[in-house]
Amino acid sequence: MNNPEEIVLKGVPAAPGIAMGAAFILDKQEFIVPPRAIMENEVPIEIARFEEALIKTREEISSIQKKIGVDLGDQHERIFDAHLLVLEDRTLIEEVIKRIKKEKLSAEYVFSKVLQKYVKVFSNIEDEYLRERTSDVNDIGRRILKNLMDESKLHELENITEQLIIVAHDLSPSDTASMYNKNIIAFITDIGGRTSHTAIMAKSLGVPAVVGLKDATLHIFNQDYIIVDGRMGLVIVHPTQETRDLYVKEKGRIIALQDRFDDIKDLPAETTDGHRVSIMANLEIPEEIPMILKRGAQGIGLYRTEYFYMNRVDLPSEEEQFEAYKLVAEAIAPNVVTIRSLDLGGDKFISSLQIPRDMSPFLGCRAIRFCLARPDIFKTQLRAILRASAHGKIQLMYPMISGVGELQQANIILEEVKSSLRKEGIPFDEDIPVGIMVEVPSAALMADVLAKQSGFFSIGTNDLIQYTLAVDRGNEKTAHLYEPAHPAILRLIKSIIEAGHKEKIHVGLCGEMSSEPVLALLLLGLGLDEFSMSPMNMLQIKKLIRSVSFKDAQELAHKALSLSTGEEVEDLSMSRLRELAPHVLASDENH
Ligand code: PEP
Ligand code: MG
Repeated sequence: MNNPEEIVLKGVPAAPGIAMGAAFILDKQEFIVPPRAIMENEVPIEIARFEEALIKTREEISSIQKKIGVDLGDQHERIFDAHLLVLEDRTLIEEVIKRIKKEKLSAEYVFSKVLQKYVKVFSNIEDEYLRERTSDVNDIGRRILKNLMDESKLHELENITEQLIIVAHDLSPSDTASMYNKNIIAFITDIGGRTSHTAIMAKSLGVPAVVGLKDATLHIFNQDYIIVDGRMGLVIVHPTQETRDLYVKEKGRIIALQDRFDDIKDLPAETTDGHRVSIMANLEIPEEIPMILKRGAQGIGLYRTEYFYMNRVDLPSEEEQFEAYKLVAEAIAPNVVTIRSLDLGGDKFISSLQIPRDMSPFLGCRAIRFCLARPDIFKTQLRAILRASAHGKIQLMYPMISGVGELQQANIILEEVKSSLRKEGIPFDEDIPVGIMVEVPSAALMADVLAKQSGFFSIGTNDLIQYTLAVDRGNEKTAHLYEPAHPAILRLIKSIIEAGHKEKIHVGLCGEMSSEPVLALLLLGLGLDEFSMSPMNMLQIKKLIRSVSFKDAQELAHKALSLSTGEEVEDLSMSRLRELAPHVLASDENH
């Protein structure tokens, strides 16, 4: 048999590194359904949803059956009899309804559990004909689930024992977060942009990822051998032996590069002419802490707390959150941990909350808007953060502030929480700094006013870019328009930094932009005080800062601000970077 031809697919680089191995196509596997708790009054709704899904599935099967009957004759039409039998099986249906009522869990979750039981029974039956019906039961089950679920097609990934590369049309950030498993060696998806939270999560998990491949799921089949090149955004399907050899070498080279700047981990991030900045880490999951410490972070510039709320049936309690925040604060002490309050919405949703989806989730009830609308949830988190502040150095940061009104409302709630803690005699840091993320253009334009009422600023360029350039950060179709070096972005960043400095507050940046040398050089020149990023990039950026003078960086930024396109800015910065700090780049980026 001929070897299939090598195919190279080009996508959006999301997390660096190289992985080589067998593909595991998520969408074609069985569903794994996350548990979702429901309220007593939602029981009839769930039962009705289940019944509707059965009707819809029945209709689908009948129409396929008819079509097959017309095309191939009655013999084939009967293939689906077993499917319809499952759909009419009163015992199964009754069991699902009974369990929804009793366990108060979503229809899809209960059904998936009952289905699993049925599949097991069928696969153990002695009668060969009936045993072969297992795949029918599975198939019909999947159809029903598909009709019940509009998203979160999760799979039993924690049971994976061989090394696999996950290939999916889409992965939500919570799907990705649930894949913390050493046997998952890379992710690739058809959709998504480089600052989508799925990409950010892949980086935190330390696995290479390529997103926005458009139609990878059409070209790749289960168990196909593929190579994922996360830095270049390439996926090679059926690589030839020559390509494999090349990538084995490349992988070795990248591993050797990983520790190349370890020697500067305890040295300050100081330019050759004595200008100091801080290099901080972004934290998504506690598993990153050892790496953050190993790489000499000066603190945590962004702790994304929303992952703590995902992939669970209920909301985290105050106590649970307190323990988690305390653990991080103690591990990072004496350095600071910037805990960002819940940034729910956008591309991050929580299965335990039944919130109707906005038409444009990134513009909808997201982050601080959600917290102000749900003070019960917000207060619980604030209490936990304040209590943890007695155990380390913590600062609080609100996401998505679009104007002074929201900041003031959030602070009123914070004051209420503080005063009840005081009354209860529970200790917390009375001087806890409270800052905001500047990531909405209106906040950037009002930065002078906001700076008077904020303890610090952290610029969230992942969002600031999408909102300023009107380019969805998670949409692969417009990924080429998502330009961090766009002069409009540089101008906004400049004015935010200046407004912050005028009020003598510290200005950091925690978007992905701070981790790319060509952009970090510009940010340094614009006067940024703090660079917060994935721990994997910290030492490279510190090396860059230690290799250049502040004066050179300022001159570069000044020139860049007068250019008219992002491409011109990037070209200019890259050519200066090659002159000033070529050793910071990997050798193939150097020409
Ligand atoms: C940002 O928007 O730049 C940011 C750091 O926050 P997130 O990526 O979580 O939206
Ligand atoms: Mg953001």
